[in-house]
Amino acid sequence: MFLRIDQLPVQLPRSTKIDPESAAAVQELLGGRFGEMSTFNNYFTQSMNLRGKKKLGAYYELVANIAAEELGHIELVSASINSLLNGPDSDTEDGTESDVTSTTIADLTKDVNQYNPHHFIASGRTALPVNANGAPWTGDYVFSSGNLILDLLHNFFLENAARTNKLRVYQMTKDPAAREMLGYLFVRGGVHALAYGKALETLTGVKMKDMLPIPSIGSEVFPESKKYMDIASHTKLYRNSPNDYRQMDALWNGDHPDGGTCVVVDGPPEHGAPHADLIGIGSAFTPDYHPAEIFEMAQQLYKKAKS
Ligand code: MN
Ligand code: MN
Repeated sequence: MFLRIDQLPVQLPRSTKIDPESAAAVQELLGGRFGEMSTFNNYFTQSMNLRGKKKLGAYYELVANIAAEELGHIELVSASINSLLNGPDSDTEDGTESDVTSTTIADLTKDVNQYNPHHFIASGRTALPVNANGAPWTGDYVFSSGNLILDLLHNFFLENAARTNKLRVYQMTKDPAAREMLGYLFVRGGVHALAYGKALETLTGVKMKDMLPIPSIGSEVFPESKKYMDIASHTKLYRNSPNDYRQMDALWNGDHPDGGTCVVVDGPPEHGAPHADLIGIGSAFTPDYHPAEIFEMAQQLYKKAKS
């Protein structure tokens, strides 16, 4: 079962402008083969299916807890896409009806080379579970063989492929919200790759961690990552449960290759931050053509429930 915390793992700065081209590229990191929906669903499926959960102890717990963290990464990547599709708040639109007879969407996309039309037609300028080509995420991306070593090896590969794609998307956008998300996830993906490498080493003797990082560039090169390494995020594996999963430190311990000591921390991350609250956009009919009316109805309901 899951509890839910109404925060993002880190604070994202607002995007400086509406940037549909970057939003389409970042979609790869959400619904692409190596996106956060894939890391989550791979580890989640494996954690449900694994036999001998009690006997396997730390190995099961590692996969189960990284799965839980990936759910938060889905939220973080989605928040960055939403930021890119909305830019800074415009006070003139919030809660007001707008002129639907003007060509609002055409204006937003007129100087853009490539974008996903579904961001405007289907979702009202928010994220979708699709890749950069607009193709939907699919369960075909999930590998759950039931063989522990094979699954861990797949997960090691998956984390490094995810990192490769993220490094490339970093070079496709200068947007501060997207780069903040990327900087944090370079560090967290590094933790996951190392954790799976350590687990494989205990089972096979193969020094998987000597291969890291893949690609062979340290996360500290990126200022958006360096600041999270300065607060030791790269050493922390989060235990996403108040009472369960007590054996993970049997795998996550010892010196970290980038400095510091690997430590299991009772989650959530200490730098959790509120969601950016998107304004209503009348011309996109979200939450409706008269946003102020819908907001007022919700507030009335709350007042009624309290009285
Ligand atoms: Mn992730
Ligand atoms: Mn990961």
